[in-house]
Amino acid sequence: MSVEQSRAYWQDTYLFQTRTEVVATSAEPAGIAVREGIVHPKGGGQPDDVVTVDGSPASVSKDADGVVWLHPESGVAQEGSEVDVAIDPDVRRRHAALHSAGHLLDACVTPLGYRNVGLSHTPGQAFLLYDLDGGSLPEGEDEKAALVERVLERAREHVAAALAYSAEVDDEGVRRVSIENLQTDPCGGTHVRSTADLAGIAITRVRTKKGQLKLSYTAEHA
Ligand SMILES: [Zn+2]
Repeated sequence: MSVEQSRAYWQDTYLFQTRTEVVATSAEPAGIAVREGIVHPKGGGQPDDVVTVDGSPASVSKDADGVVWLHPESGVAQEGSEVDVAIDPDVRRRHAALHSAGHLLDACVTPLGYRNVGLSHTPGQAFLLYDLDGGSLPEGEDEKAALVERVLERAREHVAAALAYSAEVDDEGVRRVSIENLQTDPCGGTHVRSTADLAGIAITRVRTKKGQLKLSYTAEHA
């Protein structure tokens, strides 16, 4: 069964609500799929949006075909009916800022001789994990602080330059997200409009373990 659902969250990070048609229902667990997909499902290190359907809290899941399903606590509307789907704007903005800051920080860290091998953009536990790629692991608090300052100095320059985030889907269906003149990565998440939308970027912890560098970080939406 193919479900006609747009990935509206790929087009507009700031589309927080919509009135849209139920195009499919599921019984177990009880859920609906809607035509205009404004809800970001957990993936790529970014958590689910916080969602209501007709005012009722709804959990989120994604099936093997990439269709996003909503599971309202109040029960399931009929196929063909219209529902109001809304996401929490503050949570979306926070997720987009953390996620976008992750791309930006990675673009600042990689040229220093590290290769990204893991990440999370979850609030309170966001991190970037690196293998060495020509660089070295910082030893002691002074070297760690110096590395943080090198990274943040670059990041601050890029924020001041208001570099645009953009996305396009290539011929193979892979979505590639770019920061203007800086970096392109495959990504299915939500992003801010430009680096100027980012505030409070900080690296909160530096750990070195088993030959890897782990940078915990935080950021807010400006
Ligand atoms: Zn991304």
